[in-house]
Amino acid sequence: LSSHFPAGAPRVLTLANQKGGVGKTTTAINLGTALAAIGESVLIVDLDPQGNASTGLGIDHRARRLSTYDVLVGEATLAETIHETAVPRLHLAPSTMDLLGVELEIASERDRAFRLRDAVRALHEGATADRRYTYVLVDCPPSLNLLTINAMTAANAIVVPLQCEFFALEGLSQLLKTVEQVRGSLNPNLSIHGVVLTMFDPRNNLSGQVVADVRQFMGDKVYDTMIPRNVRVSEAPSHGKPVLLYDLKCNGSQAYLRLASEVIQRERTLRAA
Ligand code: ADP
Ligand code: MG
Repeated sequence: LSSHFPAGAPRVLTLANQKGGVGKTTTAINLGTALAAIGESVLIVDLDPQGNASTGLGIDHRARRLSTYDVLVGEATLAETIHETAVPRLHLAPSTMDLLGVELEIASERDRAFRLRDAVRALHEGATADRRYTYVLVDCPPSLNLLTINAMTAANAIVVPLQCEFFALEGLSQLLKTVEQVRGSLNPNLSIHGVVLTMFDPRNNLSGQVVADVRQFMGDKVYDTMIPRNVRVSEAPSHGKPVLLYDLKCNGSQAYLRLASEVIQRERTLRAA
């Protein structure tokens, strides 16, 4: 399959939810892998000081000589931080713990909320063929701090992973409010791309109830594809691999492939609109 954005700028999708453990990083890695598997060129930007996306894609701490920290403080270009991964067409800009200090370091800079946006623009403008991406996926920390604001300011749209658990909707209105605020001030074109339900367990009645509630609240923003709770998905990062490389046939891998098709389908609809 050829890309549907041949000459344009990359589509920047930010994975955000201020709750930890809901599947942001897992979705960044595996949606990214699935998009690459069907022909897109994908850059994952790790904006979480924990660096789980970097580790999960097999990029060793010692190899992270330059990271998204250096980009945000203006000491490196995004292009200089990029690593290839075991997945063809999937690249990564890694993070380090240094990101914990970035908020204070750039707090008084006028462009502090635009650092990532400008870095992605510069990457695109200076891009050589092997650094031309159709999708940039930004993995956020579990908070609504300046890192997440940078990720929202850089984005075309937000993908919200929601775990199928009792408190799934708690905090969602705060997240949506933040998206509204960013749209109202920093990034007028920002939209919600979709809500992806993660760790769905069909044997658990509560999971079904949560799905019904979220669909009622968010309507057709919720992707049809739900990511099942699947042990292979949780094992893969410790092997430094996306689950699609670790076990392509498992339910988790197949769900992420369907999600990728759905994301592309939504992009086509958005572009036609
Ligand atoms: P976040 O980035 O939002 O903090 P993670 O993606 O790191 O969340 O996921 C939290 C934990 O849940 C991780 O240990 C991850 O391996 C596990 N996990 C995520 N998705 C699934 C899934 N579909 N099935 C089983 N475990 C999952
Ligand atoms: Mg994470």
